[in-house]
Amino acid sequence: MSDQFDVIVIGGGPAGYVAAIRCAQLGMQTACVDAWSDSKGQASLGGTCLNVGCIPSKALLESSAWYEKAQHDFSQHGIEVKNIKLNLAAMQARKDQVVSDLTQGIKALFAANKVTFHHGTGKLLANKQVEVIGKKNTLLTAKHIILATGSSPVNIPIAPLTDDVIVDSTGALAFTAVPKSLGIIGAGVIGLELGSVWRRLGAQVTVLEAMDSFLPMADAQLAKEALRQYIKQGLDIRLGAKVDGAKVKSNKVEVSYQDAKGAQSLKVDKLVVAVGRRPNTRDMADPALGLALDERGFVQVDDYCKTNLADVYAIGDIVRGPMLAHKGSEEGMMVAERLAGQQTRVDYETVPSVIYTEPELAWVGMTEQNLQQAGIAYNSGSFPFAASGRARAAGDTTGMIKVLADAKTDRILGIHMLGAHCSELIAQGVIAKSLQASSEDLALTMFAHPSLSEALHEAALAVGGHAIHIASRKR
Ligand code: NAD
Repeated sequence: MSDQFDVIVIGGGPAGYVAAIRCAQLGMQTACVDAWSDSKGQASLGGTCLNVGCIPSKALLESSAWYEKAQHDFSQHGIEVKNIKLNLAAMQARKDQVVSDLTQGIKALFAANKVTFHHGTGKLLANKQVEVIGKKNTLLTAKHIILATGSSPVNIPIAPLTDDVIVDSTGALAFTAVPKSLGIIGAGVIGLELGSVWRRLGAQVTVLEAMDSFLPMADAQLAKEALRQYIKQGLDIRLGAKVDGAKVKSNKVEVSYQDAKGAQSLKVDKLVVAVGRRPNTRDMADPALGLALDERGFVQVDDYCKTNLADVYAIGDIVRGPMLAHKGSEEGMMVAERLAGQQTRVDYETVPSVIYTEPELAWVGMTEQNLQQAGIAYNSGSFPFAASGRARAAGDTTGMIKVLADAKTDRILGIHMLGAHCSELIAQGVIAKSLQASSEDLALTMFAHPSLSEALHEAALAVGGHAIHIASRKR
């Protein structure tokens, strides 16, 4: 096997494996180095997203939603089911199978695209050499290097992880029994998604969030409604609750925190630490190379993901921007295509965000509070799912869609959604925003009836003051 390549990608997550496949498609001799192993020590491509992130969490979110629906919603549809029982082992086995099928699928894609895979930890050395530290150490060289080493959960000394009582998101995906009580530090995306899974399966879940505000990155109106829905479902979300200690005593966790009233405590069976993620940039390159990192440990890059080292690029969670798989994948495509002489760029204003709770919260572009802070005049139109025939037929009418458009040009600046299937519906907003559509363009588009998508159409009509299925504000 040759050890000389056009491109070596270090990291086989959604940023790295996509970059590697695209480079190979464009005719470059490509290698990808990744260290992830499954429980049998075999390579398991796909990084955090496939192994312990997006995919297993979505598998458990789906299964737990079915369990909850079977208990509470089937009867509304005239379906009577008795003796509903949870088989957590089977639910976890299904999740593991989904993960294994997808990770093996990437191996097959590498083979089909002729990407050479090396299982081990890759480290960038001088002269664009990459050392692969694995069962057998290997030295590879390439004309171009793409760093895509991803991120890891932040561990905080005030709540040190234990084998299975104080855990991070990885541990919380693998519980073998439903904890009676579960504490979560952090009401971010991970805290809310994993909290939803275990609440649906029967745990009493308490989420402690240091900030007084809830999901400040989301549109404030929708975040407020999402919080109301989560609380209604039984999630005990305590804002302004800064955890300052957690200790395991007699197999329970004693959590101490400060809120507006002073020192508080909470006793739970298990505790999940979900306080953010940090870039994996510590041992990725020989320090003598002088790869520039910022003060938070992210690799410094330009708009095209070029680092300060010639022919070395960095993509995904190790560079600025949201830690989202799809953002990393797009950066991987961009770097590959630019290496092939194309002019591809990433439009960072059209990165969609999704929180896969029920209701789902999804958005693209600016929020109302962003626009107000920036002093941009805008028009807003919204439409509640309660007025959608399809939502009523489905029996799920929570939430709304909101379209924000520039007051002068009518160009869409932001689209915000809360409700069932919004993780899918948001793609329509992303397409509209990517094509620089106006709200009128959306209003003049035909949508199938009945569909949840019609709520987007009506929200766009409402920007112009003439929604059909709800009283319009403008004349
Ligand atoms: P986050 O940064 O979204 O949220 C962490 C929260 O923890 C913050 O709100 C913070 O105020 C709080 N916190 C920190 N220290 C605390 C303390 N001592 N006491 C109480 N609260 C404290 O981080 P996350 O939820 O861990 O997610 C990490 C990353 O993974 C994010 O970038 C996220 O976008 C990504 N992710 C995305 C998805 C998705 O797209 N659906 C799913 C999972 C993760």
